[in-house]
Amino acid sequence: MIETKNKQSMFDTVIKQFDQTADLIGLNPNIRKILRITNNEIIVHFPVKMDNGEVEIFTGYRVQHNNALGPYKGGLRYHPTVDVDAAKALAMWMTWKTSLAGLPYGGAKGGIKIDPRNYSLSELERITRRFTYALGENIGPEHDIPAPDVNTNAQTMAWIADTYMSTKSTSERSQSQHVVTGKPIGSGGLEGRDRATGYGVFLNIKLLCNQRGRNLRNQKFIVQGFGNVGYWASKFLIEEGATLIAVQDAHATLFNPQGISVEDLFEHSKPRNGSIAGFTAAEEIPADEFFGLDCDILIPAALGNQITEENAFQVRASIVAEGANGPTNAEGEQILLDRGITIIPDILCNSGGVIGSYFEWLQNRNGELWQMDEVMEKLEKKITQVFMNVSREVEKREIDWRTAAYIIAVTRIETAYTQRGIFP
Ligand code: GLU
Repeated sequence: MIETKNKQSMFDTVIKQFDQTADLIGLNPNIRKILRITNNEIIVHFPVKMDNGEVEIFTGYRVQHNNALGPYKGGLRYHPTVDVDAAKALAMWMTWKTSLAGLPYGGAKGGIKIDPRNYSLSELERITRRFTYALGENIGPEHDIPAPDVNTNAQTMAWIADTYMSTKSTSERSQSQHVVTGKPIGSGGLEGRDRATGYGVFLNIKLLCNQRGRNLRNQKFIVQGFGNVGYWASKFLIEEGATLIAVQDAHATLFNPQGISVEDLFEHSKPRNGSIAGFTAAEEIPADEFFGLDCDILIPAALGNQITEENAFQVRASIVAEGANGPTNAEGEQILLDRGITIIPDILCNSGGVIGSYFEWLQNRNGELWQMDEVMEKLEKKITQVFMNVSREVEKREIDWRTAAYIIAVTRIETAYTQRGIFP
């Protein structure tokens, strides 16, 4: 089962990753101090009327880590594990991710500490709208731009956009649509944003396999998490001939060495709130056997802290492609690296999502409507560029992919601070 192991927090992981990079590049100590802290941590408590007439109080978070390169950017997740510590870690990862991708954004993250399965659709709508209202001017199209993340989707973004825009004067309304990205197509959303993250995961894997002379047709892969990222990454990989042999979610672990049909599994999970449990075209196996399955590629695409010192030694894949944010803790990472396993780090591997968000933001800002083929072409070009930048750094310095990605990301922010100095 997927649960976040709390022995080591995601914040510890991201700080360790950052400190290691700072040491390696001899980062200016003042800039190091700035980047080790988060600029703003917003916590809101707000009441919402439930379907039964009772009022429940919810706690929502938005942590804004850094905006040296542009407005804060990052998702909102609805999950019981959401707290300040998790939001701080995830916000930092967004700062590195947007910097690495060369986008004009900083990093933020937030969400609500709830299990959305316990609420009706109309309750979720009221919770989302009231959360947006509580955040008020802490978000904004040129200030902080949320997007979907774990358990939030285009519908959630449509409610946020509508609520935010409803508080504006008529003339401001049309200029506020890009307060969130990942909206439905009919409401300013971008064609292809739904698949952008999964496509990026797929493309990073494909580019790495190409470099190593490995054909996707001969690759067996396993996926943890069957949400938006897990689904689309699997779909693209299967289309190029790879075989999905196991999927794990919070409810079940499914295995079929002959291959699992991503479409059949999706159809199965749809009426079950996304759960893959009970799918009969695969065998259900114990959860703790998942990481040890014989395969070429492992895609963690669920929550953080999944690959740790407790299970990293089991991993049989030679490539770990991080669809999730922070799925590997520092100890788990060391074990994987010592065993010669390549990790495509989250800030590179899943950056297709925020790159797609950037395109949506530009589309709204410029009053344009982009077509699917145009979007996919631009995504491919941008993701390939970022991959190649990291790949060159890996070769030049003979280091692992995460360290290489961090060096590029942190250096870009360092340059901005050095050029501008610190106010006042
Ligand atoms: N939640 C996604 C991420 O972790 C997307 C963020 C965005 O598009 O702003 O990268």
